[in-house]
Amino acid sequence: MLGRTPPDSSPLTQAVSARVAFRLTVTFMLTVILAFLAVEGWRTWRDYHAAFATARDSVTNLARATAQHAEDAIRQVDVLTAALAERVEGDGLQGINVARIHNLLVQQAKLMPQLHGLFIYGPDGQWIVTDKDVVPEPANNADRDYFHYHRTHEDPSVRIGAVVKSRSTDELIIPISRRLNNPDGSFAGVLLGTIKVSYFVDYYGDFKIDDKGALVLALRNGTILVRRPFIASVVGQSLADSAIFQHYLPVSNEGIAEVKAVVDDTERLYAYRALTAYPLVVEAGLSRESIIAPWRWDLFKTGFVLLFLIGAFTVFGLIVLNQLRLRMLMERELRLAHRSMRDMALTDSLTGLGNRRRLDSALVDEIRLAARQQWPLSLIMLDVDYFKRYNDTYGHAAGDDCLSAVGAAIGQAVKRPGDLAVRYGGEEFAVLLPNTDSHGAALLARDILEAIRSLGIEHSAHPLGHITASAGIATCQPGEHAVTPAGLITSADKKLYMAKQHGRDRFI
Ligand code: GH3
Ligand code: MG
Ligand code: MG
Repeated sequence: MLGRTPPDSSPLTQAVSARVAFRLTVTFMLTVILAFLAVEGWRTWRDYHAAFATARDSVTNLARATAQHAEDAIRQVDVLTAALAERVEGDGLQGINVARIHNLLVQQAKLMPQLHGLFIYGPDGQWIVTDKDVVPEPANNADRDYFHYHRTHEDPSVRIGAVVKSRSTDELIIPISRRLNNPDGSFAGVLLGTIKVSYFVDYYGDFKIDDKGALVLALRNGTILVRRPFIASVVGQSLADSAIFQHYLPVSNEGIAEVKAVVDDTERLYAYRALTAYPLVVEAGLSRESIIAPWRWDLFKTGFVLLFLIGAFTVFGLIVLNQLRLRMLMERELRLAHRSMRDMALTDSLTGLGNRRRLDSALVDEIRLAARQQWPLSLIMLDVDYFKRYNDTYGHAAGDDCLSAVGAAIGQAVKRPGDLAVRYGGEEFAVLLPNTDSHGAALLARDILEAIRSLGIEHSAHPLGHITASAGIATCQPGEHAVTPAGLITSADKKLYMAKQHGRDRFI
């Protein structure tokens, strides 16, 4: 249909708002879900780092406690053996009072829970005095490492050896030995204090760490003295090739490292510490698994709840969206129904052109627009000539067909989208031409009349023998005041009347 479409009314506005509501709902849902995920992601990340920070503190404290414990245990034996050596060297090893020293050793050994035994060996390795009541056969320790060492080294300080099995009790022990000298400085023998490995194992057992946690006491050269979990075969193994001994200890005496254990291939967070007083190193490690497990379990639980919430939220959102979608569909149908009703109300059913109501409404708008835009507005009124006679000659139905053909011819002649062609009533038509002056309107009127003529509809009661029409043109020039719709129509009607007076089949 030709002519401007009147502005859309409320249903369209409602449809827009439903569409906006749909988009807003989708955006809101995505934002909420993303916010959920972001908050939970951030919390998880923070908890992960907090778990490692806590683990770092724990292993550092463990390493400090075990280092202090080892240092204390050895220092006590160190001090004791230093005092005993002083005394034995003063008395001279040859003239030693075995019974008295034995009693002294027994008394001292009782005072120290870590002590396994106290031994004095002569220069040939033979047992001279011990705190033990029974001496094993053969009672000679010349084959021990520490004995070789002290015989060949004048170093007066205490020496900590690798773990050995006691000849007197079969227990695993750590030998703490020092050289005994004759008054002339020559080698007089060895004074040995032995510490029970079980003393450390018991102490390490008291710490609350999981099965995969590890506590290690090792010599500075890497040889393991004690380890929790305790496996006898591990004692004596070397950690010299481990990452901590290779890369960390050479740089710093204490620190933290996340490495894979050489002993059991477990990834752990270790705190390590080299004792300053003795050539010993302690390591305290918590397995990565034990650090992460509670965090992972928490992640699993909150993740499950989060997924459930997101799922419930999504289902709820989809229900809302579906309702909105249905509302949009309904509104669309309503809108279409409304539009077709409005079109019907403004359309002439015989010709398909607009009707008089349509022209009345458009005229008001176009007059106002023309005044604002300062452009001319033209109106052509058309009337089929001698139509009463046509009806009388060919019948009313043929008259309707003729009007339909004339309407189509007018519709085709009007080309600009802003132009509006209507059936004004009966055999009268009108064409409203915005932004068109009288000259332009005359050209169009000429074309329309020619188009009607060219239809070649026979009209025997017409002097020309075929259907024609007459037209009157009214133009409202820019700046003209007080033009009304009725005024414009009357003016065009007058011209039409004049055209009829001047012989029809023409425009004025
Ligand atoms: P003129 O050349 O002066 O216009 O003569 P006329 O006969 O066309 O004018 P008049 O106003 O005397 O007659 C108009 C006729 O148009 C009257 C009526 O029979 C006919 N008419 C009006 N509306 C319709 C319609 O919808 N269908 C048909 N078939 N005829 C109609
Ligand atoms: Mg008429
Ligand atoms: Mg007529």
